[in-house]
Amino acid sequence: MSNLETEPDELVNHDGPAAGILVLEPREVPLGGPRAMTVRRTLPQRGRSLIGAWCFVDHYGPDDVAETGGMTVPPHPHTGLQTVSWLFEGEVEHRDSSGARARVRPREVNLMTAGRGIQHSEVSTPDTVRLHGAQLWIALPDRDRHTAPFFEHAEPAPITVGAATLRVFVGTLAGSAASPVRTFTALVGAQLDLPAGTSVDLPVDPRFEHGLLVDAGTALLDGVEIPSAHLGYAAPGRSSVRIAAGDSPVRALLLGGEPLGEPIVMWWNFIARDHDEIVALREQWQGEVIDGGDAAGRFGTVAGWEHALPAPVMPDVRLRPRD
Ligand code: MN
Repeated sequence: MSNLETEPDELVNHDGPAAGILVLEPREVPLGGPRAMTVRRTLPQRGRSLIGAWCFVDHYGPDDVAETGGMTVPPHPHTGLQTVSWLFEGEVEHRDSSGARARVRPREVNLMTAGRGIQHSEVSTPDTVRLHGAQLWIALPDRDRHTAPFFEHAEPAPITVGAATLRVFVGTLAGSAASPVRTFTALVGAQLDLPAGTSVDLPVDPRFEHGLLVDAGTALLDGVEIPSAHLGYAAPGRSSVRIAAGDSPVRALLLGGEPLGEPIVMWWNFIARDHDEIVALREQWQGEVIDGGDAAGRFGTVAGWEHALPAPVMPDVRLRPRD
C-alpha cells in the first residue's frame, strides 16, 4: 500500500550493532481517505530502520470494513524495493503497471518487485467483511535496484515444526521448501502459529537478524515478552530462536535477513540512495503521471484508474542521514 503520511520522514539506515532482544512499539498511521483505515507501523522507526533488507512493516486489523471503509489505495509509485502483501483475513485486488492483476488472499504471498519504477493500486474486494494483514517492504541492494518491475504469487504449503505451524512465504526456514518468489538478498519471511502454552525452537541462519511481528496473543522471543502488535528484534549471531506462547495462541510473522549493509534513503514510497535521486523520482512521478498521464514513462500506467496519488511536498531541508 501507499505511505500516506503528509510529512513523511526521510529515514536512512543508521543501525549500529545491537545485541539481545529489543521490543519495538507500533505507532498508528492513518492510511487516508474519508473513513481512514489505520495501520500499526513498527518499521521503520527511530532507532531501527531495517531488519535484514526488510524496511517497512505495517500491520492492520482485524477491521470491520463496514466501519473503516476497507482499503482503497489509488495508484501510487514505488522504486528500489519489493512489496509483500500477506493477509490473515479478507481479500484485496491488486493492479500494477507491469500488467499484473491479482487477488491477494489469506495465506498466499504476493510479491511486487518495483525495481526501477512501478505503480500499483490496492482495493479490498466488495465481499470482504473483515480486513486483517500486513504490508511489508524489502529494500533492494544497489546492484539490483534498477531491475525491471515484475509481480509474483505463491501459496506456501504449511509445515509442522514441533508444536508450530509455519507458512514460509520468503526464503526457507526449519527445513521448509524454498519459497519460489525472488529476493535479491538472503531473507526469510514466515507466518508462525503456536497453540497456547507451547514453544518451539527454530534453527536460523546466524548471519541473520530477525523480527517477530506478533499479530495475536503474547509471544516470548528468547524469553522476552512481545505483546500483540509489537515487533520483537533479535540481533544476528544466534543459531536458533525460541518462540513461546502464553495463555492464548500466538500468530506472528517471523522476518529475518542478512543485514543489508548499505545506506538507503527512504521518502514517501521511494527508496533511493541520496536526496537528489529522491527529488528526481518525485518530479518524474508528478510530471509523467500526475500532470502528464505518460503511459510510456518510468511508472507506466494502471488499468481502470483515472487518477493517481500525488506525491507530498518535500521538506525544505535537504534530506540527509539522521544520527
Ligand atoms: Mn504500495
